[in-house]
Amino acid sequence: MALQKRLFFHTLAAWFAAASLSAETKVLRGFTLIDGTGKPPLAGAALVIADGRIRWVGAESQLKVPAGAEVIELRGKFVMPGIINLHGHLGNTVGLAQDPKNFTRANVERQLRTYASYGVTSVVSLGTDQDLIYQIRAEQRAGRPALTRIFTAGRGFTNRNGYPTSVPGMKGVPYEVGSVAEVEKAIAELADRKVDVIKIWMDDHLGREPKIPMELCRAIIENAHKHRIKVAAHIFYLEDARRLVEMGLDGLAHSVRDQPVDAALISAMKQRGAWLAAPTLARELSTFIYADEHPSLRDPFFTRSVSEDVLRELRSPERRKRIASDPDFPKYPGFLKQAQDNLKRLADAGVRFGFGSDSGPPARFQGYFEHVEMELMAEAGLKSADVLRAATAYAAEFLGVSRDLGTLEVGKWADLIVLSRNPLDDIRNTRTIEMVFIAGHRVH
Ligand SMILES: [Zn+2]
Repeated sequence: MALQKRLFFHTLAAWFAAASLSAETKVLRGFTLIDGTGKPPLAGAALVIADGRIRWVGAESQLKVPAGAEVIELRGKFVMPGIINLHGHLGNTVGLAQDPKNFTRANVERQLRTYASYGVTSVVSLGTDQDLIYQIRAEQRAGRPALTRIFTAGRGFTNRNGYPTSVPGMKGVPYEVGSVAEVEKAIAELADRKVDVIKIWMDDHLGREPKIPMELCRAIIENAHKHRIKVAAHIFYLEDARRLVEMGLDGLAHSVRDQPVDAALISAMKQRGAWLAAPTLARELSTFIYADEHPSLRDPFFTRSVSEDVLRELRSPERRKRIASDPDFPKYPGFLKQAQDNLKRLADAGVRFGFGSDSGPPARFQGYFEHVEMELMAEAGLKSADVLRAATAYAAEFLGVSRDLGTLEVGKWADLIVLSRNPLDDIRNTRTIEMVFIAGHRVH
C-alpha cells in the first residue's frame, strides 16, 4: 500500500513537472503600456503571457518572473493591443484581380499572414466568403492561432443583380434575394454556420444597379436578430442609413458619403445603439490615388508586402487612364472628405464608432490600409487615443468579443504589437512595428 501511494505521488509529481514545462510562458518587460482601456500609458510596464493569454500585467517593479519563462526586454518600446479590422475581405484577390476561384486555403492564409505582419490581429471578412472560411475559423478556435483571427459574415445579401454583383469577380458571391422566403432560407444557413455578423449591401452604385428593397432588409434584420446575430450594412446614402437604423440595423459598414449626416440619423443611431462600425476612409482614398503617381508607391512600409508585378501594374499608363476615365472619378475625393466629416460629426455627437478599412479587394491593400485608415481618422479630427481605441477595444466590443480581445488585461489573449515609437504622439507611429504577437505566438 505504502509503495503504491509513493508511486502514485511520484507519478503526480512527474505529471505536474511535465505540465509546467509544457506551459509556454513569456515575459515582456520594460516597455510603455497602452492597454486600450483608455487609462494613461504606463511606463516601465511588464506583462506575463501563459499559453497565449495574459496572466499578469503591471509595473515592472512588481513583476515576478515565472520559472522557465522566456524574457523579452523591450526597453524604450511601446506595446498596444492588436488591431481589429471590422471590415475586410479575404481570399478572392490575387495581384490586382478578383475571382472566387482564388478562394483557396493557401490564398486565405497568405493574406492572414500579411495582415498579421502589419499588426492586424483580427479581421472580419464581410460578406464575400466561401465555405472553406468556416473550416479555417474552426481550426483557429480549436487552438491558439498563429495567424490573424478570422471572423466572418459568410455570404452577404444584395438584390438580384444588385451591387456588388457587377464588380469583376463578384457575381455569385453574395446572396441575391428577391423574397422574404429566400431571406429566411439564407439566414437559416448562415445561423447554422454561426457567422459572426450578417452583411447587407444597400447601394445603387451611383445609379448603376437596383438597390435591395427595404422590406427585404427588414426581414434580414429581424431574422438575424432572432438568432442573436448583428447586422452591418454597406450604405452610401444618408437616407438609406437612417431607414436601416430605424429598422434595427446594428452597424454601418461605411461612412455616409452623399451628404452631411443630420440630426435624424444621429438621434436614431443613439436611440437604437447603432454604431458606425467601419468608417472605411481608406477605401475612399483607393478610388482615386492610383490614377497617378502617389507617394505611398515608394513607401517601404507599403512596398514590403506588394509584388513587383503589382507595383508595375499600378504604374501602368493604361490602368491609370482607365481609372481617370470613370465618369464619376472627379467625385471620389469629395466622397472621402464627406466620409471624414461625417465620422467626426458622429463621433462628436456621441455615436459609437469602430474601425474598418475595407481592405482585400484589388488595390485595397491588406495590412497597409489599416494604418492608412488610422491616419485618415486622425486627419478627420479624431485624437490618436480615440483612433487607437476604435481599432482595438471598441472594435472588440462591436463584435461582442471583449472578454477575449481588444485590450491588454489579465485573462485576455495576448494579441499585441510592439512599436518603437509612441502612437499617442502621432498615429503614424503605429507603422514602427517591431514585433507582433497573436495568442502569445510571435508572428514572423
Ligand atoms: Zn467591403
